[in-house]
Amino acid sequence: MEYFPGLPPTEVIQLAEEYIMNTYSRLPLVLTKGEGVRVWDEEGREYLDFVAGLAVNSLGHCHPRVVAAIKEQAGLLMHCSNLYYSLPQVSLAKFLVEHTSFNKVFFCNSGAEAVEAGLKLARKYAYKSRGPGCFEIVAAQGSFHGRTYGAVTATGQPKYHQGFEPMVPGFKYIPFNDVAALREAVNGKTAAVLLEPVQGEGGVYPASPEFLRAARQITTEIGAVLIFDEVQCGLGRTGRFLAQEHYGVTSDLTCLAKALGGGFPMGALLSTDAVAPGFGPGDHASTFGGNPLAAAAAFAALRALVDEKLVENAGGVGVYFRERLAALGRETGLLKEVRGLGLMIGAVTSVPAKEVVTACQARGLIVNAVKDDTLRFVPPLNIGREDVDRAVAILKEGLLAVSNSKDDRN
Ligand SMILES: *Cc1c(COP(=O)(O)O)cnc(C)c1O
Repeated sequence: MEYFPGLPPTEVIQLAEEYIMNTYSRLPLVLTKGEGVRVWDEEGREYLDFVAGLAVNSLGHCHPRVVAAIKEQAGLLMHCSNLYYSLPQVSLAKFLVEHTSFNKVFFCNSGAEAVEAGLKLARKYAYKSRGPGCFEIVAAQGSFHGRTYGAVTATGQPKYHQGFEPMVPGFKYIPFNDVAALREAVNGKTAAVLLEPVQGEGGVYPASPEFLRAARQITTEIGAVLIFDEVQCGLGRTGRFLAQEHYGVTSDLTCLAKALGGGFPMGALLSTDAVAPGFGPGDHASTFGGNPLAAAAAFAALRALVDEKLVENAGGVGVYFRERLAALGRETGLLKEVRGLGLMIGAVTSVPAKEVVTACQARGLIVNAVKDDTLRFVPPLNIGREDVDRAVAILKEGLLAVSNSKDDRN
């Protein structure tokens, strides 16, 4: 390999600080290898990875079918322009359509781009079907949709807007799960309502069934488009192929990314046949979107997801994990609430969540703090109960260590 082999972790971190823009508050951990639910750092220490690339590595690390597909396609044709056709791309599109209620796919490279494509398609569709002036987008407070200007404007968290204003015009925000506010916000100028069926980065909050049903009903009445951002909650994470299936509500557009490529960067926008003609040739594009290498990785990842019944496993193990967390909360008094769907789980801590993350990492468990008092667990979907048991045992030690150090200080 042509980078610096055997560089000690402190020096890797120093190089990062010197050469990489300071946009992440990173943890001091240099990862070198992954297999299944396990990752290893530079010194060979093993960790149980319950962050899984932030809901990306749903098949675990380096799934053999994804590795094989990437190796094979990389030696065949990595990239060709979307001015031409490729077999991996059409195979993947057909698979996505056959496993969902949707009819057409647009490929891109990330979650933000999938949201961006959804917002643009919704506005163009409104323009073509209802005339100019129907451009408003209604989104939820506490949402997260990505970092491009459209996606970050849709993100209903002021901290992500601060200093970037003016944001894209035409966006409105309502409290999540507030049906009355939704009815109030949607009108003849609404192009789309954009929602996460389970809010992820905002703290792991599942939508209420009434809220999603109301969103479907109101948008249908007005001829507006309902967009579900399933970048995090989609593709089996919640125990259904799409999270919206739990609710019996079908959106017009659905945004996918994160787990789609099995670890390879990949995004997609799914559309119904009714809305898809909003885009015509030249209306939207992506140089890399759905290129043969990315599509081959995603096709292998999705087939593994279905063949290995990981959607069902996520549902079953998810219930077990939430039960174990609830029991840990009762036992220690250090978890105040456990919420989520499938293997997308949030736990509210009564000690600082970031300190718990550090304490768990020192004991061999990687978890994420999504808020100052909330841990997020998005492990691979192929974990078993024994992995959950190990994670819960380490979490207990971590919680107690943080709690005891607090007592000592008092
Ligand atoms: C992560 C995320 C995004 C953004 O995805 P990127 O690939 O980082 O652009 C958008 N929406 C949701 C719900 C996400 O969790």
